[in-house]
Amino acid sequence: MRRTRHYIGGKQTSGSSGRAGPVYDPATGEQAGEVDYASAADVDAAVASAAAAFGEWREVPLSRRSEILFAMRDLVRGHIRELSEIITAENGKVLGDAEGEVLRGLENLEFACGIPSQLKGERSDKVSHGIDVHSARYPLGVVAGITPFNFPAMVPLWMFANAIACGNCFVLKPSEKTPSASMLLAGLWQQAGLPDGVFNVVHGDREAVGRLLAHPQVAAISFVGSTPVARHIYATAAACGKRVQALGGAKNHMIVLPDADIDMAADAAVSAGYGSSGERCMAVSVVTPVGDVAGPLVDAIAARIGKVKVGPGTDPHAEMGPLVTREHRDRVAAYLDSAAADGAVVVADGRDLAAPEGGFFLGPCLVDHVRPDMKIYSDEVFGPVLSVVRAASFGDAIRLVNENRYGNGVAIFTRDGGAARRFEDAVDVGMVGINVPIPVPVAFYSFGGWKDSLFGDLHMYGPDGIRFYTHGKVVTTRWPDPSTSTVDLGFPRTR
Ligand code: NAD
Repeated sequence: MRRTRHYIGGKQTSGSSGRAGPVYDPATGEQAGEVDYASAADVDAAVASAAAAFGEWREVPLSRRSEILFAMRDLVRGHIRELSEIITAENGKVLGDAEGEVLRGLENLEFACGIPSQLKGERSDKVSHGIDVHSARYPLGVVAGITPFNFPAMVPLWMFANAIACGNCFVLKPSEKTPSASMLLAGLWQQAGLPDGVFNVVHGDREAVGRLLAHPQVAAISFVGSTPVARHIYATAAACGKRVQALGGAKNHMIVLPDADIDMAADAAVSAGYGSSGERCMAVSVVTPVGDVAGPLVDAIAARIGKVKVGPGTDPHAEMGPLVTREHRDRVAAYLDSAAADGAVVVADGRDLAAPEGGFFLGPCLVDHVRPDMKIYSDEVFGPVLSVVRAASFGDAIRLVNENRYGNGVAIFTRDGGAARRFEDAVDVGMVGINVPIPVPVAFYSFGGWKDSLFGDLHMYGPDGIRFYTHGKVVTTRWPDPSTSTVDLGFPRTR
């Protein structure tokens, strides 16, 4: 059985807690490994190692940091397959989705390779007689990231690529359900030439997280996970005086206007709703057809469901793998019963799927005539379930989106530029797709939702990532009038 340890100061260690947890293969349902859980003392050791490395790392010239980042980028690129296999083994998603995640994560390393440009300050000459002003950005020190099970490589890369490029030292606490990708990344950092202690990994549960939130030497916390935990992280870490960005859950709507191309919209709903078994914070979970398009759209989605190939993530023909744990699969499936009891119509029940024995499988599910007061709508389901909430008008569809407590992503499908423009302006959501179902921003923009999908001020990665991981400093300089200089300046101004 695979054993996953902590990575502190460039070395693997089991730590001192004596506690560990199981790691499952979701495709078979069997325990495939064990991961050590950190005690507060283990977290202290990781933070101490990061703090000790900070003094040296912050002085490393930007050109050298860039070299290490370029080397890391090449190493990750060279290990896409290996990383993807680890992700599939612990998360369950199909290999193609795992590779896609690594590629999206890589973009953040590529962005961070340009750190000399990203850290450029501003300068104003002669704001007054003999006075100039310039700005610069400084690293925070030791910063920590706490990440979810669903993107074991990409979400850590969202955080640590920029944090380390800016001169900080990083402690990562990955999900205990999918802990091993971070260990491969740690080994690649070492090969890339990153000094020991700049990147550390501690595994575990709320004990490890609690210590990171309270530790006086941790300057900032980046979190991605569910909304209740995000809210707790934000409140606790902010009360401890830390900078915090805590990204939470989602309920992403896909609005389909009557003029949309139905086949294009149905294809998008199927790939964005069932890809990675719906365990994506940007997955479409609510389809909202406006007016008469509802019937044809539901028929078109239903017709595609039977063709989705469900199987182990390692099966090259599989398009959708299992869910992450048995408990999560059962929790997701229970929403079909509550929706039916509430009066919705279950068009496709993923439990009818003939799935491989033992694994945590649930086929694609489609539920029509869902209303906003139903549990299947108000909760984040986080599984392969598309709910259809029909809207009578464009205005009703916008109201539905804006009255939802989440505001992560949203999409509209239409051929009408005016409607798309109005929609973009009116929705209270952080990431908007126009004929794009999963509008995850590229790495040179920033990622983040509104409302209960993000607690904090700055979004993740891209320009906001640079701002989050640095302090700004503005320097105002006065030098005496050159005419009083003791040096012969020797050049009278001619113009
Ligand atoms: P989770 O909130 O259960 O766990 C996230 C992290 O927090 C893990 O490292 C976990 O160990 C830790 N944790 C869990 N409970 C804790 C507690 N009580 N105290 C302290 N730490 C705790 O989330 P998950 O199930 O791993 O991931 C799925 C969730 O993440 C979904 O809600 C999804 O929408 C969300 N997510 C959001 C984004 C985004 O960008 N907004 C991206 C990916 C996932």
